Amino acid sequence: MPLSVDLEAPNGRKYTQPTGLFINNEFVPSSSEKTITSIDPATEKPIASVAAANAQDVDKAVQAAKKALHDPAWADLAPTDRGHLMYKLADLIEQNREMLATIEAWDNGKTYADALEGDIVEVATTFRYYAGWADKVFGQTISTTRQKFAYTLRQPIGVVGQIIPWNYPLGMAAWKLGPALACGNTIVIKAAEQTPLSILVLGTLIKEAGFPPGVVNIINGLGAEAGSPLSQHPLVDKIAFTGSTATAKQIMGAAAKTLKNITLETGGKSPLLVFDDADLEQAAKWAHLGIFSNQGQICTATSRILVQESVYESFMETFLKTIKTVSKVGSQWETSTYQGPQVSEAQYKRILEYINIGQDEGAKVATGGKTLREDQGGQGFFIAPTVFTDVKPSMRVFKEEIFGPVVAVCRFKTEEEALALANDSTYGLGSSIFTKDMERGHRMAERIEAGMVWINSSQDSDPRIPFGGVKQSGIGRELGEAGLEAYSQIKAVHVNMGSKL
Ligand code: NAD
Repeated sequence: MPLSVDLEAPNGRKYTQPTGLFINNEFVPSSSEKTITSIDPATEKPIASVAAANAQDVDKAVQAAKKALHDPAWADLAPTDRGHLMYKLADLIEQNREMLATIEAWDNGKTYADALEGDIVEVATTFRYYAGWADKVFGQTISTTRQKFAYTLRQPIGVVGQIIPWNYPLGMAAWKLGPALACGNTIVIKAAEQTPLSILVLGTLIKEAGFPPGVVNIINGLGAEAGSPLSQHPLVDKIAFTGSTATAKQIMGAAAKTLKNITLETGGKSPLLVFDDADLEQAAKWAHLGIFSNQGQICTATSRILVQESVYESFMETFLKTIKTVSKVGSQWETSTYQGPQVSEAQYKRILEYINIGQDEGAKVATGGKTLREDQGGQGFFIAPTVFTDVKPSMRVFKEEIFGPVVAVCRFKTEEEALALANDSTYGLGSSIFTKDMERGHRMAERIEAGMVWINSSQDSDPRIPFGGVKQSGIGRELGEAGLEAYSQIKAVHVNMGSKL
């Protein structure tokens, strides 16, 4: 197969798409000649086919990462210089922002505007944030007795396997590569099969920035054929994963065999609570963004809205009005589009199935509840923003992650009831609280079972702030200083300054 292909995106942008596996800073074919074809989710037309890795290719990439880990070109590089490489990469990402946003919009279906103003900006910011940390990760000196002391070294974990999803292809890559590189690890990263394109272009920028060969290796491939061998490989010291809880459980099992260090960022069914003293206009706007931005394909999407009974009717009126005025569904290239197509046919069908399940269970469709494919010329994975009311906690649409533009709304009477409903979930990722009473806001923030709380907001995410979940939403934290913990380990060195046994 060719190792690159010249493409022209629907917005007229031309670029060269690498199609191989990126190992040792070179694009190489896969050993099996198997490929993955990426589809434009708005037109269902193929964009390009890329090499798909199998266990043999995974081994090649892992061997490259292992060699690079001890190569003086990386191992002896001063941490400050490691940071400089990362700053250079961030600069290159910024210089290629329009091209990267084009690929992201084409491959994933998210709007070009969101990719340009949101995703790619965040990618560069994340690399810059962690570039600053590269020479600030160090140990401590600890006195024990007069003659003895100990010091700690903060060292890289080693070869890191990273498995990422399709909802923010480059964003998820940056969240994982940034802290791993800052701490001096070497990496094999596997992109999601639905969105294999942008990360290969990132590979060209990684090489251009000057990272030594083998430090970052990028593979595409199916979960079972490439992800699974990566999570089992004996030379991989750590697995970092973002995706579904079901896959996380498989990865945890596979990683257990060689006791790999793991961080998992999985699903959610995050609640958004609206109390009777809340600014309802603001609550409705954030509730809208919380479930309908990125086509509802956000792990922290506030997919359960819990509203205090006395303001239920007025909140719902404002919320439904917001959907009507803001939620224009259409092509990812139209500047007026708020919601593009879902990423894939599988996700599209899965969401429609949940819409049927909700109705069968007795929930009421307040708006949406249907495909918009016919409105879009009979093609594309378009779904109307959907609101279920009269939802009961026993219903699957209340309990299960749908990962699409579908929200379940319930009522509550008291703060205690709100808390019980919010915590009635196997998940614990995000949560939003709308109230003007800051005492209540902080009280709820303390008691809610979630890794992240937004008071009078939703979906805020910042490279400086730790991100992650409790319960079955994950293990460990990404981003912020906490994100460095996941990619460095402490070695204790005891020193005897003279006293003899
Ligand atoms: P998934 O968990 O199957 O895929 C995520 C990544 O894991 C992909 O790179 C995939 O190739 C890889 N993978 C799959 N099986 C694997 C295995 N056995 N071993 C190692 N790697 C494996 O998720 P999906 O099928 O793309 O989406 C299904 C659901 O997952 C969604 O509907 C949503 O609920 C959830 N999801 C969550 C997030 C998130 O950010 N938390 C992102 C995407 C999907």
